[in-house]
Amino acid sequence: LAYSKEETKAHDYVKKVLKALSLETKVDSFGNLHGRMEGNGMPIIIGSHLDTVKNGGRYDGSAGIVSGLEVIRCIKESKIKFKHPVELIVFRGEESRRFGKPSLGSRLLTGLISKNDLDRLKDNDATLRKAIRDCGIHLGGSTLNSAKAYLELHIEQGDILDKKKIQIGIVTGIASSVRYKITVYGRKGHSGTTPMNSRRDAVDGASEMILAREKILMAEHKKGRATVATVGIINVPSGSINVISGKVEFYLDLRDIDIKNRDETEKLILKTFDRIAKKRKLQLKYGLLERTMPVELKRDVQGLIENSCKKLKIKHIFMPSGASHDAIYFSYKGIPTG
Ligand SMILES: [Zn+2]
Repeated sequence: LAYSKEETKAHDYVKKVLKALSLETKVDSFGNLHGRMEGNGMPIIIGSHLDTVKNGGRYDGSAGIVSGLEVIRCIKESKIKFKHPVELIVFRGEESRRFGKPSLGSRLLTGLISKNDLDRLKDNDATLRKAIRDCGIHLGGSTLNSAKAYLELHIEQGDILDKKKIQIGIVTGIASSVRYKITVYGRKGHSGTTPMNSRRDAVDGASEMILAREKILMAEHKKGRATVATVGIINVPSGSINVISGKVEFYLDLRDIDIKNRDETEKLILKTFDRIAKKRKLQLKYGLLERTMPVELKRDVQGLIENSCKKLKIKHIFMPSGASHDAIYFSYKGIPTG
């Protein structure tokens, strides 16, 4: 998890590996680990993360770090002349599981996070600021502004390449998400004594909304759109088997690489939720958690990756990434990213 003891341990392990490759290492004021092979001019950054989600598999994030280490080792062993510095950055907190916001380490490093988030984002009682401090990190203000390029290898986390038996997907752009915490308020009642026709059941209402979302997205899919929306968490606070729920919280994650499609679908979903709530005499509260912009990645970086694939005779296709990555924040900074 982000800024946990386990994450620190994993970072310490990579630090040892970097030192064994006789690289200069440093931990920045946001806890990200840097290993640098010196050169001239702006660095070429290879980045990824080591935190992951439960059942996320062994390769999420760590594959990017291991391949970065391998790149550095190969350059060193082959003794090829390399002009630019090569810097491996191991980011903290890429997953949103703990604080509800992804890519904390890379956002802090690129300055693309509101400073209020340090005190606003919480895991139970611990604010992000406290969690960072508890890792022994002294928060600072220095941020990264420029680099020659930013590269990140990541597993697909989908099955398009697997089904087609293609090894490399050259990423053309990264989808980004709109996220809401939605609270549905109904009326509490006894499950045995309240007739079916006089209920204002928050669980029933939330269920209808969640299924309506699926219907909307399936219709979008039929139109050939790539928009996806997911409800991954549903809470019934103080729920009981014999009580009609007066309150349900659920989280909506909506994504597309095409901002117009995403916004259109968002409007349609929220309008539908409002209609269902009105029909069932429920109240709704929308808490916007996240709204990031999708990015198109630089063509020249894609071209370089394509050339390497051709040279090595590796099967490849061009495709967007439905998952968000640290790379997105480097692209926002105008750094050529791939
Ligand atoms: Zn990842």
